[in-house]
Amino acid sequence: MGLQARLEEVRGRIARAAQAAGRRESEILLLAVTKVFPVEVLLEAYALGLREFGESYVQEFERKFEQVAGLAGARFHLIGHLQSNKSRKASAMFQVIQTVDSARLAQRLAEGGEPLGAMIEVKLYEEQAQQDAAPEDLAVVIEAIRQQPSLQLTGLMKMPPWSDEAELAGPYFKRLKALAEQHGLTKLSMGRSHDLGVASQDGSTLGRVCSAQFRSRKPLV
Ligand SMILES: *Cc1c(COP(=O)(O)O)cnc(C)c1O
Repeated sequence: MGLQARLEEVRGRIARAAQAAGRRESEILLLAVTKVFPVEVLLEAYALGLREFGESYVQEFERKFEQVAGLAGARFHLIGHLQSNKSRKASAMFQVIQTVDSARLAQRLAEGGEPLGAMIEVKLYEEQAQQDAAPEDLAVVIEAIRQQPSLQLTGLMKMPPWSDEAELAGPYFKRLKALAEQHGLTKLSMGRSHDLGVASQDGSTLGRVCSAQFRSRKPLV
């Protein structure tokens, strides 16, 4: 199956889930996650009409950036954890940082002055790497982002713990949506290949899809 057919399949899943939840398909944007794939995969996806791209690692994207920086209308989202010492590099290459997790990182991201979209990665369960913003700290992080004129806060993001049963991600998505509503935020970056349908029903506005589209391509490592 080619990339186009996989893309249509993914869009079909979003459409069916949206319909089941009484939502419009157009409310859910597809983010093509191209992490660990060579730049050719990103260019191929662009040629098929995709415009929102997700990358997880600043250093990896740096190596692809030159070849994609000029693509008209393309927007690049950082969806992996950002160390503050890489914040300048990140703000120069990405349009959206989905993984803002502290007031300090928000300040660092604003130092370059580039206009940047921001989403907050929220801690919804215990993990070994305790980096996300805890729900009780959300108000502080939100305020720190809003104080920076160059940052535009849109919403929240999180990836639930892996489970073979996609339905088990549902409670995490519902919790993220409730937190967004509580803080007056409208965008929800949630859902990956296997739980995209669940996320779309639970209010996702941005599905981050990698393997369902690109698994036939050869990764970098
Ligand atoms: C890799 C990744 C995805 C996409 O994963 P698939 O299950 O392959 O679709 C989504 N979100 C984040 C944060 C990722 O790192």
